[in-house]
Amino acid sequence: MIGVLGGTFDPIHFGHLRPALELYELLGLEELRFVPCHIPPHRGTPAVSAEHRLTMVERAIVGVSGFQVDPREILRPGPSYTVDTLLEVRREVGPGLPLVLLMGADAFAGLPSWYRWREILGLANLVVAQRPGDAARPSATWLDAASVVDSPTALRARASGKVLFQPVTQLDISATRIRACLSAGRSARYLLPDDVCEYIAEHALYHHENEESE
Ligand code: ATP
Repeated sequence: MIGVLGGTFDPIHFGHLRPALELYELLGLEELRFVPCHIPPHRGTPAVSAEHRLTMVERAIVGVSGFQVDPREILRPGPSYTVDTLLEVRREVGPGLPLVLLMGADAFAGLPSWYRWREILGLANLVVAQRPGDAARPSATWLDAASVVDSPTALRARASGKVLFQPVTQLDISATRIRACLSAGRSARYLLPDDVCEYIAEHALYHHENEESE
């Protein structure tokens, strides 16, 4: 089974990385692809360029077995729609291989606002990681009870169409808070990998006075 974790990664932090590793192991993934978005359709323009965000993801996962960066959304012009990414990945891996889209419960709650969102479950399974402050099992009126599974084994048995709600280590870290911290001149150390902190310092990222805050 191949996993896809999309995000703005502005910047990537331990709240992405630790749950990603736990899900990689728990689901027995062959590969987990981090897919930084280019132009997010549902939120403001990222604070730093797609190239910087991509490089920070590369730095964060270098040497981690099974973790890969997939730059396809950055190479694709126009808004970064998850459905397009999954259509491409599905075409590449063939119809039978189980695919899983990983997301936090906050992203899952907003799913019905995503472009052609109903097609997503036809292309991949979903694993929803609980995020601090979110319900372990968010309600979703659109979700048919028969689509919900309660184990990684049940998920692996299907190429797409199943949803697993999975508790992970709760790390109350968000990129928004990290940007606010850096823009106020404070350190973000221990919220994200040292290599990423160093990259941010080298390139003086997130230090603008007009930085978005929480
Ligand atoms: P921002 O604060 O800018 O909204 P973010 O930290 O939420 O950023 P994104 O890059 O938008 O990061 O998130 C990518 C994915 O990672 C989403 O599915 C999101 O739900 C999930 N995620 C982000 N932070 C956490 C966390 N602390 N715990 C679990 N999942 C998380």
